[in-house]
Amino acid sequence: MLNIILFGPPGAGKGTQAQKLAEKYKLMHISTGDILRKEIADKTELGLKVKSIMDRGELVSDHILIEILQSVIERNPGVNGFIFDGFPRTVPQADALSAMLKLKGTSIAAVISLTVDDEELIKRLLNRAAELGRSDDTEEVIRRRLAVYNAQTRPLLDYYNHLGLLKETHGIGLIEEIFGKLCRLMEGLSQD
Ligand code: AMP
Repeated sequence: MLNIILFGPPGAGKGTQAQKLAEKYKLMHISTGDILRKEIADKTELGLKVKSIMDRGELVSDHILIEILQSVIERNPGVNGFIFDGFPRTVPQADALSAMLKLKGTSIAAVISLTVDDEELIKRLLNRAAELGRSDDTEEVIRRRLAVYNAQTRPLLDYYNHLGLLKETHGIGLIEEIFGKLCRLMEGLSQD
């Protein structure tokens, strides 16, 4: 398998690039944000539980996310690999992901981090808010999501760097240019 984490702050372009990479390398794209938004749209019990947390820009609890991941991985036994977008966001999630993959006899091949400075992120997220009308894209919530990222998720860069898995790419420029850089990083990876 070839399992990749696409890492970066909200607004870095993870979703767009993950979709393109999944298509090119025949990987399954798992966006935990999309999964949670669908639960909310479907008004499921889980959706009702997480809506207010997401609207505040805070993180949904680790055990909920880990359960979601477990079920997606179990329901897709035959895939070539996964591209994780928006997961893991905390150290317990990262530990759980390694354990889940180990049980399947596989592991993370690389963590590709898209770097974008805060000012550009806020600009992009405000544009996206105007286009898509996501309920967590108001300026106040955007700032909260960036603060949450810096406090709880950014430490994973060190975590994966220590494991020798981290690869960084500047996430500013044309979508196709960034995609080209990501593809060059992908070519050097080996499957397990
Ligand atoms: P995203 O679309 O990845 O920016 O996620 C939108 C929101 O979903 C986040 O602000 C969190 O409230 C929630 N969420 C998505 N993924 C996770 C995760 N791995 N851990 C905790 N909360 C998450």
